[in-house]
Amino acid sequence: MFTPPDYLSPSAIRTFQDCPQKFKLGRFDNIKEPPTWHTHVGNFVHEVLEHLYQLPHEERNVDAVRTLAGNLWTANDWENRVTALAEPLGSTKDFKVTAFKNMTNLWNLEDPAETDLDDMEMTVVAEVEGVRMKGIIDRVAINDEQFAVISDYKTGKIPNPKFDSEDKTFFQLLAYALMLESSDGVPTSQLELLYLAHSTKLELEVTPVKLSIAKGTIVETKENLDKACETGEFVCNVTNLCNWCHYKKIGVCPAHQS
Ligand code: SF4
Repeated sequence: MFTPPDYLSPSAIRTFQDCPQKFKLGRFDNIKEPPTWHTHVGNFVHEVLEHLYQLPHEERNVDAVRTLAGNLWTANDWENRVTALAEPLGSTKDFKVTAFKNMTNLWNLEDPAETDLDDMEMTVVAEVEGVRMKGIIDRVAINDEQFAVISDYKTGKIPNPKFDSEDKTFFQLLAYALMLESSDGVPTSQLELLYLAHSTKLELEVTPVKLSIAKGTIVETKENLDKACETGEFVCNVTNLCNWCHYKKIGVCPAHQS
């Protein structure tokens, strides 16, 4: 009925797990979710910090962030992109203030002038237990023991451990660790989630058990997705999160038809 995608990304797996119907509407019905204030803040912050780490160590300071942010704002048409948002959470000035705060909070987590990264925005294509995967890793550093340390910027809220297990919070990075080992033969020892808005770094030591749990999630999701593609049955996972779902808002989710 439906052809499964050639590759899965960790975020596609997360979407299918959260709600198979949401996956179908975005992927097969091609109804894309529009950008939001939060996704724009995240993308702008990522863009500026990527450029910051391309500068020589001694030039990585807050003034450089200000200059880069100004240049990229103009070069990549952020003014129009922010003003075009359907549901802005403030003015463009508010947007800039929020984004700049996220960027400069990086100094509360690490000193960029002292931080070495080996790769940024690294595209990885790999097979994990027979599942073809593709993803872009924010940052990879290879430590003295030749293990990778994978880190990712987050501009959203810190997950509440009451609702999100450690395995779920770190799933994306555990999947990247599996992909990196499969594609480049580089094992990963440490994962870091940099929650910029909250100046908080969550860290996880990679263990065989953690990797095996992530592997299980990947394989199980692929099996369920293949089954849904075969039968055409994509379950609607109705939860409180539906209230924030674009597909409910625009009236295309079958679970919320009046
Ligand atoms: S509204 Fe709820 S059930 Fe419908 S697609 Fe969105 S998350 Fe899934």
